[in-house]
Amino acid sequence: MLFELFSGSVRTALPIFCAFAFAFGTIVGAAKYEGRGTLLRGLEAAVLALVGAVLARLFLGAALWLDGFSAGSCLVAAWLFFPIAALVDLAASIGTEPSLGDPALLLWMATIVGAVGGALDGTYRIHAWRGRGWLTFGLDYTWGLTGSAHACLLHVINAFWGDHADEPARDQRQGVHRYRSGFRPMGGFVFTQGNTMSNCRDRYRSTGLFKHEQLHCWQSRVFGPVFILTYAAWAMLFFVPGAVAGKLTGGGVWRGIQWYSYYNNPWEVWAYTVGGYKPSGPEDLRLTWDRRIVGFWSMIFYGLFTVGMALPARRDSMTRSSRPSGTTSIGRKRRASR
Ligand SMILES: [Zn+2]
Repeated sequence: MLFELFSGSVRTALPIFCAFAFAFGTIVGAAKYEGRGTLLRGLEAAVLALVGAVLARLFLGAALWLDGFSAGSCLVAAWLFFPIAALVDLAASIGTEPSLGDPALLLWMATIVGAVGGALDGTYRIHAWRGRGWLTFGLDYTWGLTGSAHACLLHVINAFWGDHADEPARDQRQGVHRYRSGFRPMGGFVFTQGNTMSNCRDRYRSTGLFKHEQLHCWQSRVFGPVFILTYAAWAMLFFVPGAVAGKLTGGGVWRGIQWYSYYNNPWEVWAYTVGGYKPSGPEDLRLTWDRRIVGFWSMIFYGLFTVGMALPARRDSMTRSSRPSGTTSIGRKRRASR
């Protein structure tokens, strides 16, 4: 398996990723007139691009190997670790076979996320190697791959839009990237994906907003795909009830959606408890749920989510046990019996 995972084109690509990462890190360092530090930046970028790519590929390879690299396990992995790509693939492949059933394609996506993320992490020196850096880096390119894939998209968009903060005392070795400006869904809001905060002007570690966004980084690392999928599912589920509640309480449809889908979302309630804005206006308070109500709905929501996840897996294992099994090699689609 190991030999197949790192065969041919992969062994050619890895040194190329490292060379690009070294060049990028060195250019960023040179632009800051860092002297000797310029080469060290390039070196850290190159090493982390290599380790990130290998780690992400090994992690996803091991996950797919558990089910013999079957097309079904590839599609599950795609929805867990690359949900945006899975959504695009689903829309593009109506009536045909989804492209993400191919293990080789998925493994390349993980490799590129690991290489790009690692290169940028090294360039901006975000991981604290004398502290929790091993943990933050290790989680970001394994279980936290979903957030890291989204963080890569943010980096690409913010290459044209954002302004990466890089103050040695405040930004480096904090386990996060911070863009002072950049992509955000709404005006003054910070948008955090994986280890990357976009549009975050707040540079002080001790302030509420930074703590709030930093917690989202940890939620993404520790809970992996569960964090992102349940966050999005909650937001969609409470969209219509929020609109109705907003209308009924006089706060307005948009405000109702914002409160039910976002402020009452358990992941946000947790983050706002740690730091950030607290609703205070009468209309906001009417839409803000008490912690006990959040807890009650959370039990129902996460209970249904767990059952929803477990049922297809059980059905799949029962179907598989009742028919002869076969495996596929990486890079070749299993001939589907679907
Ligand atoms: Zn938040």
